[in-house]
Amino acid sequence: MKDAELRERARQVIPGGMYGHLNAAIFAPGYPQFFARGEGCRQWDVDGREYIDFMCSWGPVVLGHRHPVVEEAAARQLAEGDCLNGPGPVMVELAELLVDTIPSADWAMFSKNGTDATTQALMVARAATGRTKVLMAHGAYHGADPWCTPSTAGTTPNERADLVEFAYNSLESLEAAAATVEGDVAAIIVTPFKHDSFEDQELVEPAFARGARALADRLGAALVIDDVRAGFRIDLRGSWEQYGVRPDLTAWSKAMANGYPIAAVTGVDALRGPAQTLYSTGSFWFSAVAMAAAKATIETLRDTDGIATMFRSGTRLREGLYAQAKAHGFTVNQTGPVTIPWLSFDGDADLSTAMYWSDACLRNGVYIHPWHNWFLSAAHTEDDVARALEGTDRAFAETRAHLGS
Ligand code: PMP
Repeated sequence: MKDAELRERARQVIPGGMYGHLNAAIFAPGYPQFFARGEGCRQWDVDGREYIDFMCSWGPVVLGHRHPVVEEAAARQLAEGDCLNGPGPVMVELAELLVDTIPSADWAMFSKNGTDATTQALMVARAATGRTKVLMAHGAYHGADPWCTPSTAGTTPNERADLVEFAYNSLESLEAAAATVEGDVAAIIVTPFKHDSFEDQELVEPAFARGARALADRLGAALVIDDVRAGFRIDLRGSWEQYGVRPDLTAWSKAMANGYPIAAVTGVDALRGPAQTLYSTGSFWFSAVAMAAAKATIETLRDTDGIATMFRSGTRLREGLYAQAKAHGFTVNQTGPVTIPWLSFDGDADLSTAMYWSDACLRNGVYIHPWHNWFLSAAHTEDDVARALEGTDRAFAETRAHLGS
């Protein structure tokens, strides 16, 4: 077992053997830690087991692993150079593409990770308003810097002192949060839907989205949408465009470059000046390969209507899973957009059934997650979903046999 050997070696040289969201110790017991390869909607672990992949590397892989158009664009750029004394022309081309694609974007700044983008967006908001406080939803994930990491280990209370929490989808709660820091709100930061781990997802109430926009306007604060997780899987124009709600600032990353490391903040004209005042940078933030990959990814999603493809396969998956669960005598809840789905079992507060089922899915060649939402990619064909459903059906049967009727 290569995975077991690697874990043992990792324990000697990596704290805890692994850290962060990819630490397999926090998944069900059968999850491999190390992976060897990916192609389309499939991944192979280091022991050669093949999975139909519904995590898409936790979001980044939106067109499928090793997508030829993206790989070609990245390879072409790599042959010229990646990390140079300054960015390549592709930085301007990518910013132009974002400005052309996203109605709320008049400009773009680039970095590497979602956390860079959420942090940078709040810096722009604070630079613009001269205020300190940020309203954020209770339990929302905005990244792993000291101001937002869910574990407070290694952080100080001061680093979070400027956050005021509200309950997602409650305008009343949002307004109450604002009232506690009247006159000092720099920003409202909010994800396009509620996708907290360990619980059913919740789509945004359009009235909440519009109310958040109106409140930000009334307060003179920036409305920041954290589209790091949902971006490029709901609507290329921005995830609240369908509700007619446009943010002042948006944080993007994950799916932007089909797995290449890049993040962006886009913003409205009024915040261009404040954005310019920041000293916000990084050694690798201007690397050209990820920018070339991002440009190819967004163009391909646009030209092939990739999001519609994901919605079709996600709908088939959801319908199939509902039918199977019912046939095996389970009541399940499937929540969130079909392109970023999650399934929970009724009455499974400790997630033990979800853990067993996800492990059984894994044994049957389907990689899903027991407590974090999954991701579809445009590489999932109807055939792949049908194949995956064969695996999930066996997993439901095994779970039923394990639990008894
Ligand atoms: N915001 C949201 C909504 C996220 O889902 C994530 C990553 N899961 C982040 C921010 C942070 O992104 P990163 O891990 O790339 O720093």
